[in-house]
Amino acid sequence: MLKALSACLLATCFACVAYAAPATLRVVSDDNYPPYLFLGPDHQPRGYLVDEWKLWEQKTGIHVQLVATDWADAQRMLLDGKADVIEMIFRTPEREALYDFTVPYARVTVGLYADSSISGIDSVDALHGFEVGVERGDACIEHLRQHGITAVRAYRGYTDMIAAVDRRDVRILCMDDYPANYYLYKFGEGDRFHRAFEMYAGEFHRGVRKGDLGTVALVDNGMKLITDEERDALQRKWMGRPVSFTPYAQIFAYALAAVVLVGLALTVWVFTLRRAVDRRTKDLGFLAYHDALTRLPNRFLLVDRIDHALRHGEGLKVVVFLIGLDYFKRVNESFGHAVGDRLIVEMAHRLSGMEQVTNVARISGDAFAMTMQGALETAAITTTAERILRTVAKGFAWEGRTIFVTASVGISIHPDDGNDGASLLKHADAALGFAKREGRGRFRFYNASLTQKAQGLLELGEGLRRALQHNDFVLLYQPQVDLRTGRVVGVEALLRWQSEEFGLVTPERFIPYAEETGLIEPIGHWVLLEACHRLAHWRRQGLPELRMAVNLSPKQFSNLGLVEHITDALGSSGVPARLIELEITEGSLLEYGPMVADMLSQLRSLGLSFAIDDFGTGYSSLAYLHRFPIQVLKIDRSFLGGVPDDADAVALISTIIALARDMHMRVLAEGVENAAQWNFLRDMGCDGAQGWFIGRPMTSDEFEQWLAGTPVFPAAGVSP
Ligand code: C2E
Ligand code: MG
Ligand code: MG
Repeated sequence: MLKALSACLLATCFACVAYAAPATLRVVSDDNYPPYLFLGPDHQPRGYLVDEWKLWEQKTGIHVQLVATDWADAQRMLLDGKADVIEMIFRTPEREALYDFTVPYARVTVGLYADSSISGIDSVDALHGFEVGVERGDACIEHLRQHGITAVRAYRGYTDMIAAVDRRDVRILCMDDYPANYYLYKFGEGDRFHRAFEMYAGEFHRGVRKGDLGTVALVDNGMKLITDEERDALQRKWMGRPVSFTPYAQIFAYALAAVVLVGLALTVWVFTLRRAVDRRTKDLGFLAYHDALTRLPNRFLLVDRIDHALRHGEGLKVVVFLIGLDYFKRVNESFGHAVGDRLIVEMAHRLSGMEQVTNVARISGDAFAMTMQGALETAAITTTAERILRTVAKGFAWEGRTIFVTASVGISIHPDDGNDGASLLKHADAALGFAKREGRGRFRFYNASLTQKAQGLLELGEGLRRALQHNDFVLLYQPQVDLRTGRVVGVEALLRWQSEEFGLVTPERFIPYAEETGLIEPIGHWVLLEACHRLAHWRRQGLPELRMAVNLSPKQFSNLGLVEHITDALGSSGVPARLIELEITEGSLLEYGPMVADMLSQLRSLGLSFAIDDFGTGYSSLAYLHRFPIQVLKIDRSFLGGVPDDADAVALISTIIALARDMHMRVLAEGVENAAQWNFLRDMGCDGAQGWFIGRPMTSDEFEQWLAGTPVFPAAGVSP
């Protein structure tokens, strides 16, 4: 069926050239051109073309008689009419006259092969003087001739040429690359010869005698009937599987992807490893200076930090507190180490959260340390030690139970107890030993006299608490006089503590401690209430209108309840706000700046007035006089001592008076002890005076009597 169809197609085509298809097509070919056509061991032709012509024969139904012979004979047979088609022929100018050609079907290259001992042959022109072995009738001969090379030795076929090579008859060959590779290798000459250069490339055609176009069409059309798959199969059989890179590329891509993935995984792994190592290294570095459980600095780092603080905190005290947990072993024994650890972590947390302390460190299993730095009074240190004891002693909740632990604290202070971290820590440790020996749950200073002092302060604290409960405080009143009129215009309320133990204690002894412990807040509240109610009482008694000056501690400004306390005192007593003058120090204004400004303006709007107490002794930064609503400057009594002889004191007082006048403030001098001071102040234009010369601080009863007997201060105008 297929054959009939093919023949029909061919007939259609051949009709146009008036061609009668032959029953047999005689094809002649070179017999030594592997892999296209060569003689097998049985001397029968084989190769790509043999199979291709068989296919052609099948497709066209025309019998093919294939004759393989030497190349020159093959050409002669065609030209003599003994064959219809010659295979594997290049188109050359000389051959154009003799042949017609089919379409090309293969591209082949022709090389110049030379004995390896001959070098320097790089082109056709270099072949002058050499004899070149060629196959008879080969296109190579024509090519060489075109370059003037005529010294050729022609052989019947490639096998003869190789035999001549073997005999050393010829050492340079012109051969098509396919058969050259085949024969040189086959006959063991592969190592001896090298391909010097490519002579030319040509295309294989099939040739017919000139004018025999019918056969050209017959051959070409027949060849077209061979499918691509069939041709591929031939290629694979004779030329080997053309190396297809597609599957390799795919494999390569997979391999590459795998390598990349493995590389990535490795990189990630190495990176993770490195980070882990870095972290571990950092951890190790960290752990060299920190406690693993609490992450707090350890002893080494603490010593280093204390040394650093000592180097950079010139003149300031550095206090080291060493805190030992009492009977901590019992916690471990009773509840297990896990609970012990939790408790330690909890303590670390609590101690780190304490105010005013720095450098909290874990020194050993059951000991912590911390430091405090500044211009510290014993009271402040004592208060902190107490706070530490209270902080530790708060119960530790564990599974519905509360574990109570106490601490002992040892304290050392630079500069007295040491000038470096190590010795301060050593002495704090010794002090901790004292505390433990004396019964634990307490603190001890390395310097025993400080412990005594602290003991006194502690007793003071206890006493103050009791005093508040038992109302053991009392206010004394010191008169303030208008220097121009000599009239008493006000009093300053001065606090006293009537202690059974200590007698009448002046504020300078207990106020700092009250400030440290926060007791100043209830005490201050009491003072305000007492002063206002006393003034209200006097008003009810019909005493002349007096202004009541009440002292406020800087610490009271940190208490947001202050404004409330004042309004409470005013409200409950019914005293008009304009009669209350609050005495504050320069320090309060600077230390609690923004908060104070807010409070002062609130209180000012209520009608209260403000006096700067001890003016001239503080920072004397005059800027705040503008910023805050101040009505009175109280010249500190220390300046009065030199009046009227000390020129500096005189200059200072006159400057303060002038300043106050410029700023529309009143000036009141305190500590006026004699008439000379009185006269001087009056002459300078000072507004008011307060001091022993006028009257000492008195109880309210004393004051009432005193005032009754002194309607106008008598000494206005007295001479010293
Ligand atoms: P201050 O407000 O400057 O009070 C004046 C101090 O000078 C009083 O001492 C007073 O007794 C003393 N004084 C008065 N006239 C003379 C004099 O002519 N010569 C001498 N040498 N001294 C005189 P006081 O009562 O011991 O008070 C000391 C400080 O205690 C007060 O200084 C004040 O800052 C503070 N203070 C007093 N009462 C309170 C209070 O209720 N609350 C607060 N926070 N502090 C108070
Ligand atoms: Mg005062
Ligand atoms: Mg004062």
